[in-house]
Amino acid sequence: MSSQPFVLAGVMGHPVAHSRSPVIHNHWIEQYKLKGAYVLLPVDPANLQDGLRGLRALGFAGCNVTLPHKIEAMKAMDWVHPVAKQMGAINTIVVQPDGALHGFNNDGFGYIQSIKDAKADWQANAGPITVIGAGGAARAIVLSLINEGAKEIRLTNRTPGKAQALADEFGPAVKVLSWSERHDALSGVAMLVNTTNQGMHGQPKLDLDLKQLPTTALVSDAIYIPLETPLLTESRLRGNKVVNGLGMLLNQARPAFQAWFGVLPEITPALHKAIAATF
Ligand code: NAP
Repeated sequence: MSSQPFVLAGVMGHPVAHSRSPVIHNHWIEQYKLKGAYVLLPVDPANLQDGLRGLRALGFAGCNVTLPHKIEAMKAMDWVHPVAKQMGAINTIVVQPDGALHGFNNDGFGYIQSIKDAKADWQANAGPITVIGAGGAARAIVLSLINEGAKEIRLTNRTPGKAQALADEFGPAVKVLSWSERHDALSGVAMLVNTTNQGMHGQPKLDLDLKQLPTTALVSDAIYIPLETPLLTESRLRGNKVVNGLGMLLNQARPAFQAWFGVLPEITPALHKAIAATF
């Protein structure tokens, strides 16, 4: 009998049935011939703290946390990584050998890595970056762009107060523009990022006029269902390089898998195929 331990991990959310994370992690468990399982952990917000304490008792190596638990789960952590503290949210928990719970946020890492995977010579300070939206995804993306050296981020959101709150928190690199200025905000940019849900399956397309967007600009969309949003289709057809949100999802999973299973996994065409089969 092999002495390889059976490792348990999962994703805690509410609802959580739609999560693609089990497909990703179970694909890697099989690929690397490990013993373990990655399961769905549907936990009602009222039971979150009990659920997190239960990780130790049930012998979990850790778990991902997704909506609506990303902020509240921080309270149960014994230690939180500085980047997760900056983001004010965690997406990964690693149970330590002594049972302590450590919280991480790999969303920003996943985002930056997905951009570098698409454009190896990408530089955050190559020119102004316009970010549309100021929700949870924007928080992770804006902060990671600043940490990568972005000097000017033009931030615009339908609800301006939320964009202003991010600017107040993240400092002078973030310049808030009103929602009506979003079309003009594309002039001279090196990059455009959509972090809203507009263009996602079941939602209308993002209302944005690309006339002023240089064709040299990189266009990225956090959305991965569909893989190509109307924004990305329109950008691609006018000659812009485009990056969809799947790379962010896949790349944020890599350090978590490594922490739980001890292997830094690769993103392969077979993994892309396994995910595409779920859409
Ligand atoms: P969220 O916190 O709820 O933020 C939603 C954002 O969309 C807000 O900026 C909101 O503006 C904006 N919005 C909603 N309806 C709008 C409308 N009709 N017109 C203009 N703006 C509108 O959600 P989130 O967690 O940031 O997620 C946003 C998107 O990113 C989702 O599609 C999600 O799937 C995707 N995402 C992808 C990844 C990945 O790994 N690729 C990770 C996280 C999220 P207001 O502030 O005005 O409401």
